[in-house]
Amino acid sequence: MENTSNFTAETVVEPTPSAILDRQRAAFLREGPPAIDERKKDLARLRELVIENRSAIEEAIAKDFGHRSRHETAILEVVPVIDGISYLMKNLRRFMRAEKRHVAITFKMARGRVEYQPLGVIGIISPWNFPINLSLVPVATALAAGNRVMLKPSELSPHTSELMKTLLATIFDTDQVAVVTGGEDVARTFSSLPFDHLLFTGSTNVGRAVMRAASENLVPVTLELGGKSPAIIAPGGVVAPAMKRFAFGKLTNAGQACVAPDYALVHENDVADFVDHLDRVTCGLYPKGPTSDDYSSIISERHFARLGDLIEDAASKGATVRKIGRNSAQENDRERTLAPTVLLNVSDNMTVMQEEIFGPILPIVPYKTLDEALDFINARPRPLALYWFGPADEDRKRVLAETTSGAVGINSAVIHVGQDDLPFGGIGESGIGAYHGIEGFRRFSHAKAIFDQSRWNAADLARAPFGKLTDLILKFLVR
Ligand code: NAD
Repeated sequence: MENTSNFTAETVVEPTPSAILDRQRAAFLREGPPAIDERKKDLARLRELVIENRSAIEEAIAKDFGHRSRHETAILEVVPVIDGISYLMKNLRRFMRAEKRHVAITFKMARGRVEYQPLGVIGIISPWNFPINLSLVPVATALAAGNRVMLKPSELSPHTSELMKTLLATIFDTDQVAVVTGGEDVARTFSSLPFDHLLFTGSTNVGRAVMRAASENLVPVTLELGGKSPAIIAPGGVVAPAMKRFAFGKLTNAGQACVAPDYALVHENDVADFVDHLDRVTCGLYPKGPTSDDYSSIISERHFARLGDLIEDAASKGATVRKIGRNSAQENDRERTLAPTVLLNVSDNMTVMQEEIFGPILPIVPYKTLDEALDFINARPRPLALYWFGPADEDRKRVLAETTSGAVGINSAVIHVGQDDLPFGGIGESGIGAYHGIEGFRRFSHAKAIFDQSRWNAADLARAPFGKLTDLILKFLVR
């Protein structure tokens, strides 16, 4: 007879995020920090999983976006995860090595060292825009540092989130790596758990809520946030190869990248030339226009409407809207597709100049002098990335010295994130802390200070009862 009950003997009740954390913490305490070989084995399994499931990953992401090039997914998600893991494996021994530290003469013959110890259980909340890269590079880094991990991927990329959950469960016990899926309510509960560290990648506003929730348990956070990353196009910077790199940075994933140049500061004499170049290189990148196989759709109706509103608001306040690239009108032929759009004559009262764009819209802000460009940038929150397109001159030195951003790309956009040996993170409103490479390993480790006393130590002389000898020592020390 057919069983119509929902509650059969096989019904699996998923443990709550809080129960998973308890189990992971108990396992961490029971089993202790994993040895280097174990960590490398885990990393190798994770890398293999990504390689073997490349097609499934490309398919899931394409489904989530409606349309996204499988090449873009391979280049910006699969390859960086594989490379990042290989880099961690190759350098793990060096990262894990204890460091000898200096001991002052007054404490000789004791020795000091720092040992990097796993923190325990790391919580990771990831966004939808590069859902594999921004989930699995943190997972791999946390494992390299000897931790256990709970991942909460985005509800806006459900196919990829479910795929990660299924795949990771085939190689890791939930005691070691667990994926928790769900919407905003689950995310809120997740961010209030007493992890040993919480890494959040997402928008600045949600980042504030995450930090507030984490503060209740004094959970240390790494916040990988967004914001408006400027690009300065210096006189002499409007040249074909550089403009191709700029356009790649702005239009890859249809601008849905945290490090995409948000707006361009262009010398006033070069604005027309800049737009012409951008138009030309965009035609080259996407010969069929916005319905090209290589051009992404916008993730959701809400974000698509938000981008439309940004353009409308700017136009209503006096901006000139110019679609660039081939066949821009064909944006209407594919769902949630927005042709590359340049905005001229923009002003601060337009929403597009106040909020992160996160789409293929580029406002152009003309400047007369470098001082003016620097003032414009420094009057705003510190960005995640800043780009300089131009020669290696005194102006470039000034930009590097007089601005503060998470990273700087010189004649390049976006791909600095793919450098395993450069820290990736923001500053101020664009984030707190950084990961990738050794910075990531240390982010997820406790730098434990170890002071190893010797049989004889000069400091022993500075103990009560104090007397003449103490005065003599103090005379020597206080000078
Ligand atoms: P988002 O902030 O809306 O969501 C990110 C994650 O937070 C999701 O997993 C979501 O479920 C979760 N979340 C939502 N509400 C929450 C709450 N109240 N408490 C806890 N968690 C909550 O961001 P998004 O739309 O997924 O991604 C786009 C944003 O992320 C952009 O601002 C972009 O710049 C930023 N971003 C930053 C980086 C970086 O590395 N710095 C990388 C990619 C994206």
